[in-house]
Amino acid sequence: MDQSSKYFSEMIQLVFATSNKNKVAEINKVAGDDMEIITMLEAGVDTDIPEPYPTLEENAFTKSSFVYRRTGKWCFSEDTGLEVNALQGEPGVKSARYAGEPSDPKKNMELLLKNMADKVDTSAQFRTVISLILHNVEYQFEGICKGNIIDTPRGDQGFGYDPIFIPEGSEKTFAEMPMEEKNKFSHRKKATEKLIRFLKEFYGQNAD
Ligand code: IMP
Repeated sequence: MDQSSKYFSEMIQLVFATSNKNKVAEINKVAGDDMEIITMLEAGVDTDIPEPYPTLEENAFTKSSFVYRRTGKWCFSEDTGLEVNALQGEPGVKSARYAGEPSDPKKNMELLLKNMADKVDTSAQFRTVISLILHNVEYQFEGICKGNIIDTPRGDQGFGYDPIFIPEGSEKTFAEMPMEEKNKFSHRKKATEKLIRFLKEFYGQNAD
């Protein structure tokens, strides 16, 4: 049984402001048995929430507060971007639509490689921001995975920019790793672990 089971005397439920079931599965793995994480659709919200802001923090807050207002339930969202130093932090908040609409991971990767062609510094990071809303107060948690961009895609697992990103401490791209291995480095996992630690503490203090 997961460690987190020791901390909760009853099941707590959180709404994850996403419709992406893979992300819910990933976060459920970290959360353990005593926390139930449901999608916003399962909580009765069937809306495509816009993400128009220039920072991950603002977009994450927009999604969590929207779902919180609709459901009144404990709720969180996440926003992630790939920040490349030689490109002044781009694609960053635009990661999903770097090459324009509609979102196309292959075209995004091609554009990034084109923009990196004359760059010497290949350092980059994935950064995830989680926005949690409890009782009208927002809390944010950040997870970072540093690494480097390579010039030729490798591997066929994962998604997004995984084939061109090698995390520090590995020789493989994210796309060459099974999910368990990627999770050892993952930005999303680091942010999620902070969220879960916070909830354990918060719930411990407010359980009675
Ligand atoms: P989202 O906000 O988590 O949906 O991420 C926005 C975009 O960042 C995605 O469409 C992907 O292009 C990219 N991205 C986010 N996380 C990852 C990852 O773990 N690997 C590769 N690309 C990612």
